[in-house]
This record gives sequence, C-alpha cells and structure tokens, in this order.
Amino acid sequence: MPKYVYDFIEGNRELSDLLGGKGANLAEMTRLGLPVPPGFTITTVACRAYLAAGEPPEGMFDEVNRHLRAIEARLGKRLGDRHDPLLLAVRSGARFSMPGMMETVLDIGLTDTTVAGLATLTGDERFAWDSYRRLVHMFGRTVFGVPDELFTAEMAAAKRAAGVTAYSALSAGDLHGLVGAYQKVFHEYTGRDFPQSPHEQLDLAIRAVFESWNAERAVFYRRQERIPADLGTAVNVMAMVFGNLGPDSGTGVAFTRDPATGERGVYGDYLANAQGEDVVSGSRNTVPLQQLEQIDPRSFHRLMSIMDTLEHHYRDLCDIEFTIERGALWMLQTRVGKRTAEAAFVIAGQLVDEGIINLDEALDRVSGAQLAHLMFPRFDPAAAPAPLAVGVAAAPGAAVGRVVFHSADAVSAAARGEQVILVRRETNPDDLPGMIAATGILTSHGGKTSHAAVVARGMGRTCVCGAEALTVDPDAGTITVAGTAGGGAVGTVLRAGDLISIDGGTGAVYPGAVAVRSSPVVRYIEGDLAPESDQLVAAVDRLLRHADTVARMRVRANADTAEDAERARAFGAAGIGLCRTEHMFLGDRRELVERLILATDDAGRDEALAALRPLQRADFEALLAAMDGQPVTIRLLDPPLHEFLPALDELTARVARARALGTDPGHDGQLLAAVRRMHESNPMLGLRGVRLGLVVPGLFEMQVRAIAEATAQRLGDGGDPRPQIMVPLVGAVQELEAVRAQAEAVLAGFDGLPPIPIGTMIEVPRAAVTAGEIATAADFFSFGTNDLTQLGWGFSRDDVEGAFFGRYLELGIFAVSPFESIDTTGIGRLIAIAVTDARAVRPGLEIGVCGEHGGDPESVRFFHDAGFDYVSCSPYRVPLARLEAGRAAVRPLHSRSDTR
Ligand code: PEP
Ligand code: MG
Repeated sequence: MPKYVYDFIEGNRELSDLLGGKGANLAEMTRLGLPVPPGFTITTVACRAYLAAGEPPEGMFDEVNRHLRAIEARLGKRLGDRHDPLLLAVRSGARFSMPGMMETVLDIGLTDTTVAGLATLTGDERFAWDSYRRLVHMFGRTVFGVPDELFTAEMAAAKRAAGVTAYSALSAGDLHGLVGAYQKVFHEYTGRDFPQSPHEQLDLAIRAVFESWNAERAVFYRRQERIPADLGTAVNVMAMVFGNLGPDSGTGVAFTRDPATGERGVYGDYLANAQGEDVVSGSRNTVPLQQLEQIDPRSFHRLMSIMDTLEHHYRDLCDIEFTIERGALWMLQTRVGKRTAEAAFVIAGQLVDEGIINLDEALDRVSGAQLAHLMFPRFDPAAAPAPLAVGVAAAPGAAVGRVVFHSADAVSAAARGEQVILVRRETNPDDLPGMIAATGILTSHGGKTSHAAVVARGMGRTCVCGAEALTVDPDAGTITVAGTAGGGAVGTVLRAGDLISIDGGTGAVYPGAVAVRSSPVVRYIEGDLAPESDQLVAAVDRLLRHADTVARMRVRANADTAEDAERARAFGAAGIGLCRTEHMFLGDRRELVERLILATDDAGRDEALAALRPLQRADFEALLAAMDGQPVTIRLLDPPLHEFLPALDELTARVARARALGTDPGHDGQLLAAVRRMHESNPMLGLRGVRLGLVVPGLFEMQVRAIAEATAQRLGDGGDPRPQIMVPLVGAVQELEAVRAQAEAVLAGFDGLPPIPIGTMIEVPRAAVTAGEIATAADFFSFGTNDLTQLGWGFSRDDVEGAFFGRYLELGIFAVSPFESIDTTGIGRLIAIAVTDARAVRPGLEIGVCGEHGGDPESVRFFHDAGFDYVSCSPYRVPLARLEAGRAAVRPLHSRSDTR
C-alpha cells in the first residue's frame, strides 16, 4: 500500500512533488535541526486519489492517526484532552506556492470543553477564547464557505456592545460571547452545529484543503501561472505554536535579502501578540523586523543565525515565517523566496561574489522574461511632481493609469483597452482578476509580504503597498491624502477615473500621468551607461556576457533597415536572421510595384523592375554595411502582390463615384481591374512566397541581382558583406530547385563575390515533413514559425486571436497562445521531424528560426534542445534571447529551476 503520510523528519526538500513545497521545506528544516513544531505531511498522491474518488484513499486516515499519536506522545498532550489539549494547524502546500490561493485552519482541537483547559494551561482566558474564535471563523470560512461578512458583523456588534473600538479591548467574557455568536452564524449558515469532536474537525479540514485545489480562484491562478492542473496539493498538519500569547509572543515573515532590490541584509515584518494570518493579510500594521532586536534580542539573534544557515543551505534568497511563543522561536515555513526581476539579477551576482554559486548557476537564477521586465521604461525624476504619498516599493515598474477601486472595474476597463491602477486598502485572492487586468496595484495597508505585494511580484505587475498617507474608501470611490509624505498635498481627493502614476521601484504615488524614460538596462545595452555605474546594470552585464560565452546558439535579429540593424547590433545581435523585403516596397515605391503589377507586356514589366532594382540595391548595401562581417539573411518577396494595391472596397467606391459624376476613373479603373483579377478568398493560402517567384517573371531575379550588386559594392568599399538568400513558403523541393536555378544563373554573372548561401524557410507543414528532400537543395533552413503555426493549426492569426483565443485559454486548450510560445507537442513535433530528416541528409545544415517565437524565452529553450544554430527575433528581444540561449546551454535538458 502506498505511504500517504510522512512525518517531517522523514521528508526532505527533494520531495516537493510528493510533499508540496511547504511540506518538503518543513522536512528539510527539521532535518537541519531547526526548531520546527512537530508535524506531518499528507502527500499530493493522497490528494489526487481523493479528488478522483471523492473519498480519501483507503488507509490514509489510519496513517494520519498513527502520526498524530506520535506527536501526542512527543509533546505529552492529546487532541481533545480537556486539561491539556493538543491543538493543530492544517495548511495546504502544493508543489508550487500559490499565495493566498489555498487554505489554512488554525487551532483545530478547540471545543467548548477544551477551551477551558487551554485557558487554565496558559493562565490566559482571553487568549483561549480568542483562539477559539479564530478557529470557528477560519473553519467556517474554509471548510463550509461561511462568508466573512457574517462573522465581521458579529465582531462589530460585540465591539459596539462593549463600547470599544479595538478588538484588543474586548475582554475574555466579551470573546466568550463572541464565540457563541460565531457558532450561531455557523449553525445558521451550515444547518449544523460547530463540530465538537477534534478528530472530526481535523478530518473535515483535511478534506477541505484537498478540495480547495479545485476552488475557482486556485484554478484561475494556476492558469495564469501555467501550473499544471493535475498536481494536487499536500496537507501539512502541525502542532500549534502561539504568537498571540502576550507581548513576549509574536509572529513575522522575513527575507534573507531584500526581495525588491536584492540589497544585502535581512528584511522583514514583525507583529507582536499575533498569529501569522494577521501579518500576511496586512490587516494590522507590522513593525520592521529590526525592532525585534529591542523587543526580544535572544530570539532576534537566534533568528538571524537560522536565516544565515538557511541561505547557505539553500544557496539562495530564502523567505521564512516564524512565531515566537513566550520567548521560544519556532520556524513555520521557508522557501526559496520570490523576488523582483531587479533583485534576481542583483542577488545572482552577489551570490557569485560570495562564492556561494558559480556563474552557470547564476545564469539559471535569472530569466529572459525578467530581463525583458527590466527593459521597461521608468519615471523621469525631473518630470515627477511631489508625490501624494510614499508607500512600500513592492514590485518595480512605472505604471500610469486611471484609478479603479474594484477588481471587476479593472477587468472591464482593461477589456476596453484602458490602463488602470487598482487601488485597494489591501487585496485578497478575490481581487486576482483585477490585479491581472491592472497595469499597477496600489494599497494603503500591508508591507512587502502582504498579499498584494507577493502576488504582484509573482505576476510582474507594478505594485506600491502600504501607502498609509492615503485613505482609500472604495464605497465612496475616493482616495484622500491624509498625510504629508509628499509635502503639501494633504486633503487632496482623487476619484475613480483620475489619472495616477505609481513607482514600484521607490514606492512613490504621483497625481496625473508622469513622463517615463528608458531603463538603465536599456541605456547600458545601447552603450550610454557604463556597467559599473549601477549594481543592477553590472549584474546584467556580467550575466549577459557569460551567457554569450556558454551559449551554443547565436542570436540574430529580424531587421529591414540599417537603423534597425544598427540597434540590433548594439543589442548584441550576431547578424540578421530575417530581412522582410516587402517592407522596402512601401511608401513612394508602391507606385513602382503598381507599375509592375499593371504591366501588360514584358517591356513594361522589365521597366518597372529596372526602376526598383537600384532602390533595393541601396537598401541592401546599407543593411550589409550595418551588419558588416555578420550574416544577413534576405528573404525574397513573400506577400501576395495585391497587398501593395489599394483595398478592393476603397477602389470600388472611388471608381463608382467617378462614374456617377460622369468622369473617367482613369488609373483607378485599371487598378480596380487588377485588384479584381488578383482577388483571393484566403490570401494567406494564395499566390505568395516562392509561388510569386515562379509566376511573376523577373521578380526574384531582380532581387537577387540587387543583392549581388550590393555585395559587390560593399566588397569594393572594403567591407565584409555576408548575405544569404532565403526563399519563403517553400512546400516542395522542386520549388526551391527552380528558384535556386534562377538565382544561381544571376549570381554566375558576377565575378569575385563571396559564396552566397541560398536557403529556405520551413513554414509550410509539407516542407517540414519533406525536409529531407528539401535539404538537398538548401544551404540553410530558417523556420518561419508564424506561418508554420498558422498552417499547422489551420487558422489565420489575424482572424483568430481576437475571435476565440480568449475562450481557448479559458478552456485550457491553450496554456498560452501558440503564437507567443511554440506549441512544442504539435508544431514542435513538425520542427523535430524536419531537423532530424534534414540533418540526416546534410549533417552540418545551418538551422535557425525567424518567427516571433525566436524571442520567446520558453521557445528559445526548445530551439536549443532541438539543435538549432541560431534564433532570430526583433532587436529589442535580442538581449533576452541571448540570456536564454546561455541558460539553455548550462542547464540539464528539460530541467527547470523552481522560480515560482
Ligand atoms: C514566419 O512565418 O514565421 C515568418 C517569419 O514570416 P512572416 O511572419 O513574415 O510570414
Ligand atoms: Mg512566413
């Protein structure tokens, strides 16, 4: 029979699939000899069995009881004992941390009888009733879904009756009464009494944790974070320790370094006389952890030494939760902590300097997505007015938007394409859709470890929290500036719809829309900022350079102009992977293309082509000059020719108008006839790509001649031109052979040119599955994954993205759009077949990708594993692709570090 329950001493950090992240790390801390309250973990296997059958697997509860008895024996307390009751905390813990998503029930074991035992034992009657109140509330909410408002209304009534405003002013007697009122709420809502059997409480709580895996907001979060839906959660059952036993007790959360900036030094929040949920919810304001040194120096120093141990053991930033019970320190959780993109780079660099990790590992600690985030613009300090308030800088970025107070408003505004800042006193998991929809999140309560901060950091949203100078009243729809943080703004009232700007890097909140400027990372990449001028930039520089050293794949850019090529080069591109020549046929030149299309005889066509050729030659020359010494892949014309003519409806209207006025439509009439002749029901599948080259005489020859002339010119100027000619949309080797013969005939007319490779795009499924044949006529392959995705799925991107992709994502048919990240199982399979078959024929065949996936971090890893030589992407994505190409080279195949 499988083992469903592991004592903390039996597990370790490697077992997070089985024990969840929290359980595995509790086990690891227990093994390290750190003070962890005794407990055990029920496995994710048990959860999956429960979710499949609707019942716990056979034997699971027997195991739970055995482990429970072991805890009872260790502590000399018994669950349900009227004099010395054992109390338990039940917490969920999945493989990936899902902040605020899953459920916790504390103080299990309290009943109408054991509460008296707890009071006697601790000598603190108020504490006992406070704990019981928490249990009825959390249990009611989590296990039976009793709405919070029903409890908070009773709490308010109790305060009114006692004539006090603070909860702490309620007496033991008041709380005793409140427990009665809560139990009544529980009874009225659930139709049953609050369970008086501790074992039943435990049983129901465990089932509730299992079931919460499929709660709506957990499902939603998983989809956002691309966490597989079938993992299930583990359940951790642990002896309670109490942070709410008076002023010498308390609870806190801490990071071994600052998770926002990466600054060295312990960072955290502490709340005296409180339980953990009080800190995380942000409902009471905490003090900085450093103050614990005055409050309880012994615990503080012990904590510092434990955090040092943890950081060395995990070799990374750790975050922890702890509780002090009457001077005794207990560790309740640790994990490798979430961090901002900035902190990720800074910390990776520091850990290398400290000799804790090497550069390869450091590369694995950062990601291309984080680098992309750092390239976002920031606020221009010169343009910023005095801030309205300065809160906690919780997640970086410069966000400008209109104020909304409710999650639903953020969602509907985002659907209209508006940028909004979601403003709340504090957030909770129900706000998640609005947090995703918003550009930024602003709260007036809570610190760096509040729900808003943790979730925003995880999602890469800008967040300022704990801006206490602001009084947020969502019902009235106002924010009132009550403090003087920014100087002189006291009394200002902002309303829904007003523009504000929040700086997640400094915590500043500004009225209006503040101008933004480019990030230091971009300025460094562009060569305007020295790496040593800033610790973030220094870390980025070091890791990018290391990535270039270890990467097998090169990174090229998609660029059509010399200007783009220069930028790409500055960003580290090793050549151009795709120059789309159609972009050279626009503007003034459209008229020449019209002449080509309208030509009725060879002479007219040749004349139009002859007029285009010098222009193309000049374009290519500039491009080759900008990328001197690096490959420049020039794609012959791809789109259907009628794309260069006016739209059918527009022309029809123009011609009809002329006719109605009795005038001659002239040129428009000829154009209309041509457009009608060339009309295609589905241009994506029509006369385009290589087909054009075979049907429109002279077109590709003109382009090849222009390339050859430009190359000759560059050679004459002492340059090192390295063009490559690329044929689009090939589906059969014969197509490529025919175009190749045309091109070679043209090139043969030039003396002294360097070898100019002629290759093809692989972007038609037929090309992928006949790649072995096509490779015989190709000097290189470049996968056009945009078309390959469209044609492989049989949908056109322009038509489907707005039409039904949202629904497909909701249904989980896509985890992410296949145009954003390569569909590894479907389109990826076509790619794998093509690479294998082509290299079987031509072992050294150069293979790259120039579809948009070339700049997507996840896809870059796929292309590395598939054996590509390079990826090509837009100039701005070149740095992140370089980083990912390096990461792909240093990490073992398919392994992923847990950065969630
Ligand atoms: C592609 O199809 O991936 C490609 C790069 O070509 P285009 O996007 O220009 O069709
Ligand atoms: Mg294409």
